[in-house]
This record gives sequence, structure tokens and C-alpha cells, in this order.
Amino acid sequence: MVYSNAGICTSQCTIQNTIDFVGVGLHNGEAVTMRLHPAAPNTGVYFVRTDVVPQQGVIQANWHNVVDTSMCTVLGNEHGVTLATVEHLLAALRGCGVDNVLIEISGAEVPILDGSAAPVVAIIKRTGIVAQRVPRFGIWIERPIEVQQGERYASLTPDVVSQITVDIDFTNPVIGSQCLSVEITDELFEREIAPARTFGFADEVEALRSQGLALGASRRNAIVIDNAEVVNEEGLRFGDEFARHKVLDCLGDLALAGAPVFGHLFAHKPGHRLNNALLRELFAHPDAWSRVEYSEVAARRAKLEQSARRELPDAAADI
Ligand SMILES: [Zn+2]
Repeated sequence: MVYSNAGICTSQCTIQNTIDFVGVGLHNGEAVTMRLHPAAPNTGVYFVRTDVVPQQGVIQANWHNVVDTSMCTVLGNEHGVTLATVEHLLAALRGCGVDNVLIEISGAEVPILDGSAAPVVAIIKRTGIVAQRVPRFGIWIERPIEVQQGERYASLTPDVVSQITVDIDFTNPVIGSQCLSVEITDELFEREIAPARTFGFADEVEALRSQGLALGASRRNAIVIDNAEVVNEEGLRFGDEFARHKVLDCLGDLALAGAPVFGHLFAHKPGHRLNNALLRELFAHPDAWSRVEYSEVAARRAKLEQSARRELPDAAADI
């Protein structure tokens, strides 16, 4: 995807200063403190659980460390230490163009805050983002990759713009069918995607709680749907907030590629398991992607556009 500053800032970026958050986990309901630290170039994103034995709490934000995707994206390390619900935070970092950051956290789940990425984006923007004078790299999609899981389907294809398209279809009439395609740029992400909240159904809460899930869920951190109604007093932030939140989830999960992805992610009925399977499929095929320096992206896009034009049959080109 194109992240903040993509096409403008060709250097890796980190945050200007340390940032503190307090909040509760959506699923475990536990209060945690989270501290984001600036990190050196080429660090990437690392989590450190401060409530476990020192040296055992380090978890790299990477697709191969995903250990569970049933309700959220959970990362884990070789010591069996895990961290849940990383996707919204990772989307915020990617959306703001933060490449390198070290995140200390005092519990097993990232705080849900208001259920969206907006609070993290607002604080990162206030704190500032600094360029680190080291070339920035992304992942260029060379050829289509796809995965299918029952009704669910996702693909990554080469594209001259970086975008995410989601297509959702719920029987609940509040959500229904929604399809949304968004070019992921700094501005669009902050305005159109970051504020979209996670959502859940009131009639599923008891069942989830009996499994130790959704213990921290409330109207303050999720859109709650009861039958055919949104019960949050303030209503929806966008008419299609559900599809927008799915774009947010996709961006966060895709951030686990370890670098910005240049291409088009399409997902029909997306989910964390599907998103992780797509990355596993991508990295299982070295010919499907290449590492690209940001300074080369404009030239690659121009070349792709040219070859796409060449491939258009004459009749189509005349239209
Ligand atoms: Zn989410």
C-alpha cells in the first residue's frame, strides 16, 4: 500500500518521541499500558511484553509470527509469549508511514481504545514522524497471488496505485452488502479509514464471553448491533463504517509483510485468517514479489502503466 509520505519520503521513518497509552484489551478485558519508542533504521516493528521474564517477551511484527486468527490477529514467539489484537495499531503505524518502532506493553493484548485506529494516528501525528536518512524499501507485487477459504477469497495483484478493495456481505440488514475500494494514502487513511470502528453483535456477546472473549467490549470501543439496530447513541461515523473497518483490518494484517506492499489487495469476506494466508502464499512464491527501494517506485509504476496500455487490444484502446 502507499502509506504516509509514500512517493514523497524515500527515507525510513520513526516517531519523534515516546508515546504512552493506557487502555483495556477488547477480548481479555485487562488494563494495560503501552509505550511506543522511536527505533533505529531497519529495526521494523517489535513488541516487548514487559510483564514476562526479561528476554522472553520480544515479538517481531511479522506474518510468520501469527499464531492465532480466530477473533483477531495474535502474534507469538518461540517462548510461547503471545500478543493479541495487533491489527489496528499496525494499521495506524503503516498508515502514518512509521517503519521503525519498539512497543513495550504490560499485558497480552493491545488496548482497543475506541475500536478504531484514530486515537493512535492522532497522537502519532501530534508527536511527529521523523525521516531517518536511510533508504526505505517496500514489497512490489510482481504477479497475482490468490487464496480461497470456502466463500472467502483474497488476492494481491500488481497495480499502478496501492489500494485495498473489500467486499462484505452480512445477512444483518444494518451491514448488508458493502464494497469499498480505497487508495491508501496518508491523507485518505487518516480521514476515511482510521476512524472506522470494530463491530460486534449483541446476541453473540454472551457466547463470546463464556469463551473468555469480548470481555472488554462495550459501546465505547465497538459498534454494537442489536437485531437491526446500532445501539451506540452516537450512531455510525460513516454509512459504510463496517467496510471501512475491514479495510483497516486488511491494512494492519498486510503490515505484517514487514514493509509497505505496492499492489492491489482485493478481499471478498475478508478475515484475519484469510489475510495471513495471503501473505504466506505471497512469501512462498519468491517470483511473485520483489524488494523495491521507494526511489524506484515511480519508474516501476510508469513501466507497469505502459505495459498495461500495450496489452489493451486495439478495439478496447479506441473506446
Ligand atoms: Zn478490526
